[in-house]
Amino acid sequence: MENCIFCKIANKEIPSTLVYEDDATVAFNDLNPQAPVHILVIPKKHFASLNELNDKNTMSALFTAVQNVTKKLGITEYRTVINTGESAGQTVFHLHIHILAGRPLLWPPG
Ligand code: AMP
Ligand code: ZN
Repeated sequence: MENCIFCKIANKEIPSTLVYEDDATVAFNDLNPQAPVHILVIPKKHFASLNELNDKNTMSALFTAVQNVTKKLGITEYRTVINTGESAGQTVFHLHIHILAGRPLLWPPG
């Protein structure tokens, strides 16, 4: 999708610190990390949010990618977050899963 920053990252039109890639997903370090490990896993295909995700192959690929990324980094304890909608904290409208790790994480989140 035009003018979508995460589509541009997926297409390598703008740089990112890529940590993982497969046919359907890429994962890269968050620009503004909220924990020692803060990675975003995104589908290569554009979906504005979880509300628009209507493709079971992509759903499966995203969770497989989370497993592959955490395995690759040797992380067994982590938080996954999907913010959906502005009031939930979504700022980039291309579906992404946050992986946060490396420090104790409070619950409930703010
Ligand atoms: P959310 O607020 O859930 O939509 O998350 C968007 C995340 O994308 C934020 O944590 C930002 O720090 C991160 N972000 C925005 N632009 C970039 C970028 N160019 N490269 C890496 N992370 C980014
Ligand atoms: Zn996009």
